[in-house]
Amino acid sequence: MPLVVLGIPWDANSSHLHGCAAGPDAIRAALHSGSGNDATEHGLSVVPKLSDLGNLELQNSVGDLDANWADANVITDAVDAQIAAGNRVISLGGDHAVTYPILRGVAKHHPKLTVVHIDAHPDMYDDFEGNPLSHASPFARALEDGCMQRLVQLGIRTATTHSYEQADRFGVQMIGARQLDQFDASTLDGPIYLTVDLDGLDPAVAPGVSHHEPGGLTVREVLDIIDALPGPIVGADIVELNPSRDLVDMTAMVGAKLLKEIAGRMLTVG
Ligand code: MN
Ligand code: MN
Repeated sequence: MPLVVLGIPWDANSSHLHGCAAGPDAIRAALHSGSGNDATEHGLSVVPKLSDLGNLELQNSVGDLDANWADANVITDAVDAQIAAGNRVISLGGDHAVTYPILRGVAKHHPKLTVVHIDAHPDMYDDFEGNPLSHASPFARALEDGCMQRLVQLGIRTATTHSYEQADRFGVQMIGARQLDQFDASTLDGPIYLTVDLDGLDPAVAPGVSHHEPGGLTVREVLDIIDALPGPIVGADIVELNPSRDLVDMTAMVGAKLLKEIAGRMLTVG
């Protein structure tokens, strides 16, 4: 199935800083900057195989819940339509709030989804500052809606008592940054969706995020996770790039690299 890239410039539901709406264009600029080439580490010339749909038109209105639900529906409908047309979507955020409406769209076509989630944060708050669409809550909403049969979180290092209660409630496998060797990709089955919050990486290698959480993953550890994923991988996203926090575009380049390697893995394992 063809791969399409969808920009989702949506950061109205960020809890701390705004700026992730500029993420999709920053990743594109890094991808096409001329500093690298089109090949993955496995020698697959992947960039020409990506069809870029551009950015969704969204209201992105801070504090306007009606507008944000309307935007969520635009995102779900766009993903749904792409999959219905036979495409697989790699989405570029935006903050992590984008993943709930994306998963609603993916789950319509893949009811037995396994979600692999790289992040410093569990993003499962039942309620965060009264905003059900907060970027701190997408997996609580998606689990409530039955969008997946399994959620595996990798790189977590901010879990609160509430996070652990939510993980128990929903049967989530939460693997901290210091327990990464417990991740066994061979236990994953069914269609897989990969969501990468760039703050899952260490801020030393990915400073261009709103929430710096030291002690994170290396780029190589994330690449190894991608390489271990079995197929089929039916969709993916890369979120939380905040270019206003970046240093010499280095996090945008990490995002572009991950985009290439995720696309390569999707094309390789189906
Ligand atoms: Mn997140
Ligand atoms: Mn995060």
